[in-house]
Amino acid sequence: MIKTRFAPSPTGTMHIGGVRTALYAFLLARKNQGTFNLRIEDTDRNRYVEGAVEDIIQSLRWLGLNFDGEPVIQSERKELYQKYAKELIEKGVAYEQDGAIWFTMPKKGQVRFTDLIGKREISFDLAEQKDFVLLKSDGFPTYHLAHVVDDHLMETNPVIRGDEWLSSIPKHILTFQAFGWEIPNYAHLPLIVGTDRSKLSKRHGAKGVGEFRQDGFLPEAILNYMALLGWTPPGGKEIVSLDEMIRTFDLKNVHSTPAVFDITKLEWMNGEYIRKMSDERLSKRLREFLVDHPAKDKIAPVVPLVKERIKKLSDFVPLTDFLFEKPEYDREVFNKIKIEDKKEALDKVLYKMESLQKPWKAEEFEKAFRKLAEDLGVKVGDMFQLIRAAVSGQLVTPPLFESIKILGEEKAVKRIEEAMKFLQSS
Ligand code: GLU
Repeated sequence: MIKTRFAPSPTGTMHIGGVRTALYAFLLARKNQGTFNLRIEDTDRNRYVEGAVEDIIQSLRWLGLNFDGEPVIQSERKELYQKYAKELIEKGVAYEQDGAIWFTMPKKGQVRFTDLIGKREISFDLAEQKDFVLLKSDGFPTYHLAHVVDDHLMETNPVIRGDEWLSSIPKHILTFQAFGWEIPNYAHLPLIVGTDRSKLSKRHGAKGVGEFRQDGFLPEAILNYMALLGWTPPGGKEIVSLDEMIRTFDLKNVHSTPAVFDITKLEWMNGEYIRKMSDERLSKRLREFLVDHPAKDKIAPVVPLVKERIKKLSDFVPLTDFLFEKPEYDREVFNKIKIEDKKEALDKVLYKMESLQKPWKAEEFEKAFRKLAEDLGVKVGDMFQLIRAAVSGQLVTPPLFESIKILGEEKAVKRIEEAMKFLQSS
């Protein structure tokens, strides 16, 4: 049976890069009806961050990467590692010095190893390797010892982890051998870099999963996007559901070259997922996301207007605020509209609106204001922007007429009046 695990160190909140490692381990386990475990590697007490474990667990849940059983917490197994470290002393391959237990590396020979990713055959010269610490003087194991002991006891195979561990392979293989344990297969995942090919960081828009969640990203879009950072689904398809990924994922199709994280691509994909949703489903997701929205229950009719225009759930707010709250007018917004006397023009708009038969119809509305633009000698586009600015306080909104219909004719008229007052006073 395939047993995989995700083994984060709680040195901060769950980072987007970790999502890919967790996802691949999850996919492989689910595809093979195996198990996917969580191990918290918290033995480096200096780097431990309060709340990080909770954040990791919550992030995995939100993403739908549910792990099997209870998480293994390394700091709770201190004695276990101590016992195994002593066993290596008894076997004559480790020694105690300055309070710590060290592994004795052979001084010559080679360690050969084939990585599952790209079937890379790598050999390490032992003359270049040094003895290393297994158990620190504070009684906690190093990653090297804890990895070998835990992945043996948890029967992990294959071990899926970041490329940064590839250089530690000789230590791990020799430790497995010293215990007389079977060496697992390893899949070292390619590095994730930013669009400028440098180490992925905040500057590239890479942040914690929780922050992406707050920004209005969807878990399914994050999973889909992160899956593609190193893996090409059959047929080169880009939009792949989690179920499809489970069916088709194969470490054979993961490449060893660095993968580029591009936040604009992730945003695009998030928008694709938003557009794929039914209006009902999107309304529900928006209501869940906008828990503090002043008019949470009035979201549904607005959804069809914004669906094509938002990339993140959070984009809904600035685009539609004016439908739920009075706009704050800003001189700068009106300054961008090329109409000389805006107050005068709005006065005419008002007059025209009052003469239109209610309920207003799209065609008549459009015709009336095209005509007005002509009469005033202004561009049609500017005329509609003026109405838009007066009604919403902004220059970018969902389609104007539909927005006015949601707002209601009376409110729209009132806002024209308010905008006129604003223009007069400012
Ligand atoms: N705790 C290690 C890390 O965060 C995990 C390495 C592994 O998966 O074995 O990088």
